Amino acid sequence: MKTTAIVLAAGQGKRMGSDVAKQFLLLDGKPVLYYSLKNFEESMVDDVILVTGDGMQDYCRENIVEKYGFQKVRAIVTGGKERYHSVAYGLRAVEAGCDYVLIHDGARPFADPSIIERGVEAVQKYGACVVGMPVKDTIKISDENGFCESTPNRNRVWMIQTPQIFSYPLIHGAYEKLLQEEKHLLEKGVAITDDAMVAELFTDQKVKFVEGSYQNIKLTTPEDLKVAEVFLKQGHIS
Ligand code: C5P
Repeated sequence: MKTTAIVLAAGQGKRMGSDVAKQFLLLDGKPVLYYSLKNFEESMVDDVILVTGDGMQDYCRENIVEKYGFQKVRAIVTGGKERYHSVAYGLRAVEAGCDYVLIHDGARPFADPSIIERGVEAVQKYGACVVGMPVKDTIKISDENGFCESTPNRNRVWMIQTPQIFSYPLIHGAYEKLLQEEKHLLEKGVAITDDAMVAELFTDQKVKFVEGSYQNIKLTTPEDLKVAEVFLKQGHIS
């Protein structure tokens, strides 16, 4: 069995309100992306494709991959405008013979090797799975005017995290179809916000939920960085 992780670090992180993209902000003196890559380096995954912004390849190679001695990063490729473009370009760089891919946000530094292992175990059984956690708050769907429209049963609502793990041929095919259909979907106002959605839209494959952790946060806004510092201090990861 061959497994490849695609680690996404081509976003600009505008919601962080910083000049530096969130995956490069420092947590205890090291970039957020260092922690994300370290989890894969220490996991059972065979290799890693790092997807970065245009012109950031050399920076990432020198200041992250070589500096911290990551051995599993096999390629550094350029991402695209939206997250789904970056995923598609990462998938195109996967070597032939790969059985499963794990698609991961570089801005999630706490997906530890046990989460990765649970995901790889599940994908062998189910073909597609996403890491997530049951929601703690009640979720409501609003109507177009900002009024409550409905309230889904909380026991069946999950917050979705990454990695999202798939059979490689399945998700590669689904993403190629997405790029072909992109214009049409944009016209319909469909926003592609995760990988499971691409499997849901373009394949018949059911996607299984796998338990992640409440610490597996994505750094998006400045408060998230403070929370991440607390998790680090607890010795969750080093
Ligand atoms: O913007 P969002 O929080 O959804 O980004 C999730 C992950 O996807 C981040 O690690 C970000 O760097 C990555 N991304 C990307 N290419 C984009 C947009 C986001 O690789 N065009």
